[in-house]
Amino acid sequence: MTARTAPAGEETAPALAGVAPAVAARLGKLGIRRSFDLVLHLPLRYEDETVCHPIAQAPRGVDTQVEAVVIESDVKYRPRPQLIARLHDPTGELTVRLLHFYPSQRKQFAPGNRLRLCGEIKGGFFGVEMIHPRVRVVSEGAPLPDRLTPVYPTTAGLSQFALRQAVRGAITREALDDTLPEAVRRRLHLPEFAEAIRLLHDPPPDVPPESLEARTHPSWLRIKFDELLAQQISMRLHRARRDTTSAHPLADSGDLGGRLRAALPFALTEAQERTLREIRQDLARRHPMQRLLQGDVGSGKTVVSALAALIAIGNGFQVAVMAPTEILAEQHYLSFRQWLEPLGIRVVWLSGSLGVRDRRSALEAVESGAAAMAVGTHALFQNAVKFPNLALAIIDEQHRFGVHQRLALRLKGANGDELPHQLMMSATPIPRTLAMSYYADLDVSVIDEMPPGRTPVVTKLLSESRREEVLQFVRDTCATGGQAYWVCPLIEESEQLQLATALETHQTLSAAFEGLRVGLVHGRLPAAEKAAVMHAFQQGEVHLLVATTVIEVGVNVPNASLMVIEHAERMGLAQLHQLRGRVGRGAAESACILLYQQPLSETARARLKIIYEHTDGFLIAQKDLELRGPGEILGARQSGTPMLRFADPVLDVSLLESAREVAQAMLRDHPALAERHLDRWLGGREELLRV
Ligand code: ADP
Ligand code: MG
Repeated sequence: MTARTAPAGEETAPALAGVAPAVAARLGKLGIRRSFDLVLHLPLRYEDETVCHPIAQAPRGVDTQVEAVVIESDVKYRPRPQLIARLHDPTGELTVRLLHFYPSQRKQFAPGNRLRLCGEIKGGFFGVEMIHPRVRVVSEGAPLPDRLTPVYPTTAGLSQFALRQAVRGAITREALDDTLPEAVRRRLHLPEFAEAIRLLHDPPPDVPPESLEARTHPSWLRIKFDELLAQQISMRLHRARRDTTSAHPLADSGDLGGRLRAALPFALTEAQERTLREIRQDLARRHPMQRLLQGDVGSGKTVVSALAALIAIGNGFQVAVMAPTEILAEQHYLSFRQWLEPLGIRVVWLSGSLGVRDRRSALEAVESGAAAMAVGTHALFQNAVKFPNLALAIIDEQHRFGVHQRLALRLKGANGDELPHQLMMSATPIPRTLAMSYYADLDVSVIDEMPPGRTPVVTKLLSESRREEVLQFVRDTCATGGQAYWVCPLIEESEQLQLATALETHQTLSAAFEGLRVGLVHGRLPAAEKAAVMHAFQQGEVHLLVATTVIEVGVNVPNASLMVIEHAERMGLAQLHQLRGRVGRGAAESACILLYQQPLSETARARLKIIYEHTDGFLIAQKDLELRGPGEILGARQSGTPMLRFADPVLDVSLLESAREVAQAMLRDHPALAERHLDRWLGGREELLRV
């Protein structure tokens, strides 16, 4: 559970009804600025103070409550002051130690005082003891509370007591009327908002504690649903706002596209045709497209984006193509140039490694409009490139870019009031549940079909101890005209070490494979050398390519039919899947050998099993999500999505699906309620809305 914190500077003068300014300032640190935020500040857990145990029978080693009378208490210096008290009840004695304490606490332990103490009882040297229990002075026969006590997320200097009071005040003060239409609430079998809120802050004794703990109680479901609903409403509104901005409508005459299709050695798959139609419809509108083109590695996204680019270019506009790595950007440059130049279209390469002169001429070509297309890495687009006429930005592996980079590119392209259309591509198959939660403001097209003629890749899992056999297999493959990749281990802790390992692997393999040419690429290689090695591999002059994970995306060498991945257990599933997608692109039977080091952790074993058993990227991503959780797949912050405090898009997927549908219906049929709902959940938290 991530507690939201307010950005610095916004904590000043929070006006919270019924709360002292000092408390209000601390509440501000928890992101609580309005009285209603307190209503939605829900307990992390509960303490059970409804039962008291006799000292002799109290369970040991777990949270428990006893009631005892102070016999004596004293401050001992050993060497720091400690408060040590002896207490008793009819069944036995108990020592309490406070390692730090306030004067007021000393008074609580005055001899003769009757105390209720909550904490763990441990067997100590001088009998049983409690360290730092929660203490309350009571009179004899005082009734035990009949409710669980809520424990709230808090911050330094803010006591549970103060928080409870503030929350209780807010619940009585605020109107807890429902923002869900009654019919919807009944259909979804959800309790009323007021009922859910009261129950969670102050559960009656008959509520099964596990249902609170696991957050499966209907009241929790209601809160999680409301949170997801607010997220969906906010995303839909954001999207509606997008439709108030404009872009150049791009009609497709089909001329250039037809000429490219005629020159291609293949026909588009049905899935490629369908996604292209979706893109074409978007481009024809006068609002900027924001479409994500998803497709597994090798599904043929590039040619679809090229046909989209031709629509823009056919209308006399420019297209920018951006990729996260130099290798990937260069692959695109080569593809686009090969396809577009025969049509008389100038494509320029804008790389960080260009010489001053080449760079200047590329920039000039873009700025004069002579080049209709520019391809490069993102660094380039942050620099001084000016597009007089940009109408479409194509962004590959978009999840590697932050929202802000995407936005910067978009603004860069703005000419006058028109924003460029955006086509994002991703081979990271985002499971539907995540896409729904995180990309509700994007339209998604999916290429769910592979081009014909691919050979399935056989995956083998081999322990490191069988390295010799693997070497022999690589040797045989290369000796009979095949080519192979050898992927060096990922060493996250040290790039230096990773580089050293790659160099060493290259040396060892060169020595082991006499007569074969062994190449090496890694992230630190100068771009020109990298390009030379890649080119030689492409031409079949290099037989074995030793590589760090830089080849993860974008490399296309159909003759390479074998891949060996060392220390596969260190890599993520998405990464393994992407790597494996580099082979199986030609007619030859292909294999991917995953070498792993024993012993395997349980998660590593589970991961390798998934990649061994499945080839479908979406399925792998879904399993990955189950293993790792969404945060690791898409940094929540980076994706710019309002963070969820209570709901989990994976575990609560059915709630998410209902929320999505209800958001749409509410905006249509009950716009005022929708707005009120949004205000409750996100009001005053504009910074959490998507940019
Ligand atoms: P990705 O979706 O991973 O970016 P690419 O666009 O790089 O995939 O395509 C992989 C390979 O498949 C390229 O060599 C491309 O030319 C080829 N290709 C694309 N579409 C088809 C098709 N319909 N039939 C055959 N080959 C295709
Ligand atoms: Mg690609």
